[in-house]
Amino acid sequence: MLKKNFLMSPGPSKVPESVMLEMAQPVFHHRTPQYQEIFADVTAKLKQVFRTKNDVFVFTSSGTGAMEASVTSFLSAGDTVLTIDMGKFSQRFDLIAKAYGINTKKIDVEWGKAVDPSVVEAALAEDPSIKAVYSTLTETSTGVVVDLKALGAVVAKTSAILVADAISGLGADKIETDEWGVDVVVAGSQKALMLPPGLAFMSVSEKAYQLAENSSIPAFYFDLSRSKKALDKNDTPFTPAITLVIGLQKSLDMILSEGMEEVWARHEKLAVATRAAVKAIGLSILSDSPSNAVSAVQFPEGVDGGKFAKIIRDEKGVTMAGGQDHLKGKIFRIAHMGYCNQYDMVVGLAAVEEVLYELNFKFDKGAALKAFQETYLS
Ligand SMILES: *Cc1c(COP(=O)(O)O)cnc(C)c1O
Repeated sequence: MLKKNFLMSPGPSKVPESVMLEMAQPVFHHRTPQYQEIFADVTAKLKQVFRTKNDVFVFTSSGTGAMEASVTSFLSAGDTVLTIDMGKFSQRFDLIAKAYGINTKKIDVEWGKAVDPSVVEAALAEDPSIKAVYSTLTETSTGVVVDLKALGAVVAKTSAILVADAISGLGADKIETDEWGVDVVVAGSQKALMLPPGLAFMSVSEKAYQLAENSSIPAFYFDLSRSKKALDKNDTPFTPAITLVIGLQKSLDMILSEGMEEVWARHEKLAVATRAAVKAIGLSILSDSPSNAVSAVQFPEGVDGGKFAKIIRDEKGVTMAGGQDHLKGKIFRIAHMGYCNQYDMVVGLAAVEEVLYELNFKFDKGAALKAFQETYLS
């Protein structure tokens, strides 16, 4: 078999050829008018993608760096925050907060479900000392999208800030940062923003800046006041990942020329058709609040999830993601985020059918592809 590689994992995700070419330029110096012009443009465009008028910081780190900054920038040891465990990534906020001596009140949600905003409302009412609520927009480990609009409405009535991890969600699942009252949004480069790993982003509202004034967690690389001073001069405190920022300018141009509404609609169409496709061959979707960025698909009875993952990646060349923690071997995750259209999904679904066939799972061959096409075209 002629093997080709297809990257269909929920990060890193496929990078457009035009973005790769942009990043092939020779490296130039960043303390120059040439770079400053690019950085100003990138910052303005990021705000359009974040749907915010707030500052958006650019960090040279993976997404988790911005998650950490969203804890260290606003809090002090001994503060109490509300965290939610509805998957691997929302759980991470709880771990980061604890690492900095912050007390966490954790809402446990069955993986595959989204947090109920009324539970958050009750927790906030019970403890008015809660300084911040941490949630994901898209919980990549379970394919769940959270109703941030409803969470924003709940949190806005209190003195707490709402922090959202939109690392995989931004540019795939809809977010209206300002309109929904999301005070801090973190994102990363290697998911729906169509870049290699290495950049992280954080938007900060006025309410969050006020909280930051009383923060006493020591920080250096991610020190918000240092970053803010630089940002106000259209700069970063330390050497930026110049090459990635150049790529980002190109990918943001692609996103904005398609249009945010159109980008969201494309993701929704792909997600809906993908879910119909896997259901047509007897598989099921883990999430009862399914994301438009990634689908978590449950293996049918009798299919060895570990074998499936190995064959589809190592033999077929199609990289999807497996399940994490207790979902290991129980699900696979197929991404439809970023640089992805209907033809990419047909490739991924054909590979899913082929591997299931080789694992002796009984289904109507071609049914997933047919359902995808029928749903997509309807
Ligand atoms: C990928 C991802 C992360 C982790 O980001 P890194 O870039 O690996 O640090 C965090 N949260 C969510 C929701 C993600 O999808």
